Amino acid sequence: VAKTQGRGRFAWYDAEQDRQSMDREKLAADLREAIAHDQVEPWFQPIVEIDDNLVSGVEVLARWNHPERGFIPPGVFIEIAEDSGQIGALGLSVLRQACSQANEWAQPLTVSFNVSGVQFKDLNLVPSIRMVLESTGFDPKRLIVEITESSVIDDFDVAREKLDELKTLGVSIALDDFGTGYSSLACLQNLPFDRLKIDRSFVTDISDHPQSQKIVSGIVSLAQGLHLEVTAEGIETVEDLAYVSYLDCQRAQGFLFEKAVPAAQVEELLETKWDDLPTVPLSLPKAV
Ligand code: C2E
Ligand code: MG
Ligand code: MG
Ligand code: MG
Repeated sequence: VAKTQGRGRFAWYDAEQDRQSMDREKLAADLREAIAHDQVEPWFQPIVEIDDNLVSGVEVLARWNHPERGFIPPGVFIEIAEDSGQIGALGLSVLRQACSQANEWAQPLTVSFNVSGVQFKDLNLVPSIRMVLESTGFDPKRLIVEITESSVIDDFDVAREKLDELKTLGVSIALDDFGTGYSSLACLQNLPFDRLKIDRSFVTDISDHPQSQKIVSGIVSLAQGLHLEVTAEGIETVEDLAYVSYLDCQRAQGFLFEKAVPAAQVEELLETKWDDLPTVPLSLPKAV
């Protein structure tokens, strides 16, 4: 029985596997074309200063509008790019487009750029970023490289060397999705981050979750002690914003403000002032 079951399961699994891998091969080939024509585009999500609710920066989020299939989520195509050896080319194309577009904006917004695990280990990462900075003339002080814990935990010594090299370019480094990995504290202890982004799993709906409130409050004190600037991701409601403001986060990012938008719409973000948003949790008394 076990054998039959095993074989049956194997046959089914194999067919499915085969279909999926063909699909991925096709997508990988389509992706190669798209990257070559700058059709994987940078979109931009605002990052807002909590003290005045003004946009101070944007996070670059890659968007691929596939001619037949529509938008493919980055969670899907970034992994395909990594597996098919294209992540370096993808990053280079997206960063080059982002920096030249950002040069046109009326304000010197910071530009946060995501680097995946495989991308971080690529020997060409630092030279590529240097090349883009030089060719676009984009001010390195405006560039923030976002990496996640999984990119650095294999070997802190190697990671530190890479981060130091990046910082030599004049860029800043943010630790993204903070709190979701297995060694978040070891990362902070070992590596030279400038910013920390609290994962949205602690932030969205925070006013209903006392545990999350304690955790975010703890992360903020930790960050203050280590002189790291804190951004709260996943701000979806005024309650979320009020709470992270109350807990002393400096910056906020999330659908409450805006989702990622194409470059042509960034100028509108600059004019938006979300000035009637509360800065004290709605459920707390105003005077403390
Ligand atoms: P991330 O760097 O943590 O980016 C934040 C993700 O959360 C984005 O998803 C964004 O659209 C989403 N988000 C922002 N605000 C909210 C909110 O209020 N609520 C909810 N539910 N979600 C929110 P997206 O664009 O699908 O990107 C997913 C991930 O793909 C990113 O996570 C990043 O790791 C990766 N990614 C995106 N663009 C690039 C890129 O150019 N290069 C690399 N290497 N990775 C990228
Ligand atoms: Mg990010
Ligand atoms: Mg994140
Ligand atoms: Mg994330």
